[in-house]
Amino acid sequence: MRRGARVPRAERESKRMDRIYMDNAATTALCPEALAAMLPCFAEVYGNASSIHGTGRDARKKLEEARRTVAACIGAKPQEVYFTSGGTESDNWAIKGAAFGNRHKGNHIITTQIEHHAVLHTCEWLEKQGFQVTYLPVDEYGLVSPRDVEAAITDKTILISVMAANNEIGTIEPIAEIGRIAQARRVLFHCDAVQAVGAIPVDVDNWHVDMLSLSGHKFHGPKGVGALYIRTGSKVDTFLHGGAQERGRRATTENVPGAVGMAAALKKAVENLEENGMRLISMRDRLIHGILDAIPYTRLNGHPLQRLPGNVNVSVQYIEGEALLLRLDLAGIAGSSGSACTSGSLDPSHVLLAIGLPHEVAHGSLRLSLTDTNTEEEVDEVLKTLPQIVSTLREMSPMYDDFINGRG
Ligand code: PLP
Repeated sequence: MRRGARVPRAERESKRMDRIYMDNAATTALCPEALAAMLPCFAEVYGNASSIHGTGRDARKKLEEARRTVAACIGAKPQEVYFTSGGTESDNWAIKGAAFGNRHKGNHIITTQIEHHAVLHTCEWLEKQGFQVTYLPVDEYGLVSPRDVEAAITDKTILISVMAANNEIGTIEPIAEIGRIAQARRVLFHCDAVQAVGAIPVDVDNWHVDMLSLSGHKFHGPKGVGALYIRTGSKVDTFLHGGAQERGRRATTENVPGAVGMAAALKKAVENLEENGMRLISMRDRLIHGILDAIPYTRLNGHPLQRLPGNVNVSVQYIEGEALLLRLDLAGIAGSSGSACTSGSLDPSHVLLAIGLPHEVAHGSLRLSLTDTNTEEEVDEVLKTLPQIVSTLREMSPMYDDFINGRG
């Protein structure tokens, strides 16, 4: 084909279909149920949900239906669910809102070293505003100790923020236990459940959380929409000032298509949670054991059992994760690595360092994250392709050469 000529659409589509997408912790494809629910909200039910006329009331009806659905999926009351623009905004609102709303009581916040940057960078910013933050360490599996949380509480502690499941290594944290401690000590408890919602059972009462963040695009909903659960009576400041939307706590015209799509996707995910979970765990473990058996000098990162059903994270020694990703991409397989390449830095992931990996091991990490649309055939294909790529990369690796020849 001549340069610049257009590739026929059917061919482009079939190429795309051939690709194996195992980066579902980064984002997921919109599910058909979410798309179908959203479509009428663009050009038919397009009203401003805060307008009092019929067109607005139709939109309001859809928005409140979506709110009821989201609330039911996390065991909350509808009036405790606030729609946001995604996980990052929910985390920012929860942490800054709780910090400034309770400044008169104290200035101390407890979180962990392995939180998402939406939490960590927010806490770092708060430190510049005079707050004090304790960043708790985790064990080799990425588990936070509830006892450490309890020991860190002082009479100045106003907020504890611990994620439900880690986005890189998939470790599921003992949230209910931490929640009980927070409740007993009367400290507000926020949980970033962006990776957990739609993947494992989430119930705000069982977990004793006061605030919980979730994000639509992690469970086959649309991007740019999320929610923050705020328990009735929690003192949390308004984040976006302006109009009186979201009961006066979050200004801006409501994103009705986003909320409706997110609710439809979440309903589907929660209805199929158990069945999908079992299937994913079986594929996940086949991938993990297949990789560890076929490729020497590899290790699993994260907890072997207490981990998200779709999360695989391995360190492959003597190679660079970025090189591995590029080769996998050429082979039509999408995964992600543990180094912070998106930020333009080659620093290895803060999560992998926190679980004790040396820099060079953290550099050779690969995350494959599965969802219900992944297949056993795709797992077979990855297990066939990955060892070949690793072996080619190791042949070119001076680190591996030194190791094999006893110089490393
Ligand atoms: N928190 C966690 C644990 C995440 O994994 C992510 C996204 O990767 C976020 C927060 C941010 O979510 P969003 O992309 O919706 O802003």
